[in-house]
Amino acid sequence: MTPVAFELTIGCHLSTAAGWKKMGETALALGANTFAFFTRNPRGGNAKTLDLDDLEALKTLMRENHFGKLVAHAPYTMNLCSAKYETVDFARRAMAEDLERMEYLPGNYYNFHPGSHVGQGAEKGVKLVIEGLNACLVPGQATMVLLETMAGKGTEVGRTFEELAAILDGVAHDELLGVCLDTCHVHDGGYRIFDSLDYVLDEFDRIIGLERLKALHLNDSKNPCGAHKDRHEKIGQGYLGLDAFASIVTNSRLRTLPMILETPQDFDGYKHEIALLRRIAAADNQTHESALGGVR
Ligand code: FE
Ligand code: FE
Ligand code: ZN
Repeated sequence: MTPVAFELTIGCHLSTAAGWKKMGETALALGANTFAFFTRNPRGGNAKTLDLDDLEALKTLMRENHFGKLVAHAPYTMNLCSAKYETVDFARRAMAEDLERMEYLPGNYYNFHPGSHVGQGAEKGVKLVIEGLNACLVPGQATMVLLETMAGKGTEVGRTFEELAAILDGVAHDELLGVCLDTCHVHDGGYRIFDSLDYVLDEFDRIIGLERLKALHLNDSKNPCGAHKDRHEKIGQGYLGLDAFASIVTNSRLRTLPMILETPQDFDGYKHEIALLRRIAAADNQTHESALGGVR
């Protein structure tokens, strides 16, 4: 009997412009079995009304093609820890409304940037993010909310594992929370995943707990480790390099997580990156299979 080949759950960011089912079809055309999308215009604004038939069509497509969990992305402008009340208020409304809408696509992830404390200090920032989440999360909701690891650009909150742990600790319904690790962001934040991935994962486990890690954003970085810049690069063309991504997609603690590419690519580029990473993961899997075969 031939062993069932291990398959990554991998995809990229897609536009919602042509509707739900179209995103599923585009994902399939790119060789993806998950994807990310913005829940509303990334620069803020209103969300479109939901087309329920179109949503059902996407759900069917996902079921028939064995998709993994989707990783929706909140707008960048949403800042739960701003110093301005209007901004915090908008962020809470947007998140609460996004989560209501996500109930129509149950069982998936909703990823957001914790925000920027704009000079109020990280401690105050963490406190405001906790208060925001406590205001938005609804016990029993079908969506897990993911805090994204941040690069530490400007006054970003979530630049260290400790800051993310502090947020998780403070939220009442923390069973609804997880973490999405962005490879460019942690690298820019000073974590050496390019040469010490297992050490960084041990740190993550000690400070946050690996059971909280639910998804990955795969991006190379235009800047050296610790630069706090957050400029994404194509896979293998930045300071992380292809070897780092090979160790990520073959790592036993990471390879089953949904992986989303946010690289500066067009469709052809995404298709190529997805195929490349699938090939690396499959080759590694075969090595293990034949090693096992040798023992038997
Ligand atoms: Fe993000
Ligand atoms: Fe990201
Ligand atoms: Zn980024």
